[in-house]
Amino acid sequence: MKLQVKELTDTRCSFMVEGTTPDVVNTLRRILISEVPKMAIDEVEFHMGPIRDESGNEYDSSSALFDEMISHRLAMVPVPTDLKNFTFRDTCECEGAGCPHCTIIYVLNKKGPCTVYSGDLQPLGDVTLRIKEELIPIVKLKEKQALLIYATAILGRGKDHAKWQPVTICGYKYHPKLSLTNKDQKDPENTYGIWDHESKSFIVEGLDRSELCHVCRQNVENNEGMEDPKFELCGRDDKFIFTFETDGAITAKDALEYALEYLSNKYEEFREDISGIDEKA
Ligand SMILES: [Zn+2]
Repeated sequence: MKLQVKELTDTRCSFMVEGTTPDVVNTLRRILISEVPKMAIDEVEFHMGPIRDESGNEYDSSSALFDEMISHRLAMVPVPTDLKNFTFRDTCECEGAGCPHCTIIYVLNKKGPCTVYSGDLQPLGDVTLRIKEELIPIVKLKEKQALLIYATAILGRGKDHAKWQPVTICGYKYHPKLSLTNKDQKDPENTYGIWDHESKSFIVEGLDRSELCHVCRQNVENNEGMEDPKFELCGRDDKFIFTFETDGAITAKDALEYALEYLSNKYEEFREDISGIDEKA
């Protein structure tokens, strides 16, 4: 399997993968969505009763939204996650009690009138764990309303809840291949890809060319219904263009590295599982 990264930013990755099959690429897609972990807020504790500021003014612990809705909105905030530093709580050395290796605690302390944003969540301890997407609105507070919240984030996987799914957009398309069907036509100009004389087909190479595949597709559509069409388009089932984005909790590079290692480990486990079958037979 050959993998060639075409575009890589903090939150987006596009790559070409060659010499594999649709089931392997689809498995990678499913792992990226459901198995790559991230930290997310899992428990929210609301202060009940009056809240006072430094000047002695009193506020109500209330807002326009139910506490459950605020909790849900907080859970969806992308929490910065370095997968090398965090571990799952149930396998952590603290045995589930909660420690800096498996738990982040955020404090949110806001008094109205104002809008509460994700950036108002302050981590206890490590300031590098501040929320990067600061302007996600959580709730609006009116005069005399206030929120004092302790929120606990832990590591989880997307297969358990969408809040633990760092990879958002994720998909692949078959690499396009154009074939010339009109035998009388001269070799088309090398606009869309490489003209392969042996197979009498167009092979579109590289991501830049794959953008042209849209043009090619248009070309095919233009030919549709004609008695003597010039092109037909099909997808190669051994070469794919894969694109995914993350919500910013982890980088696209970390997500891909984790997924590829996970995939490789799964195959290794499977290989070990079936290694004894011959002996038993
Ligand atoms: Zn721990």
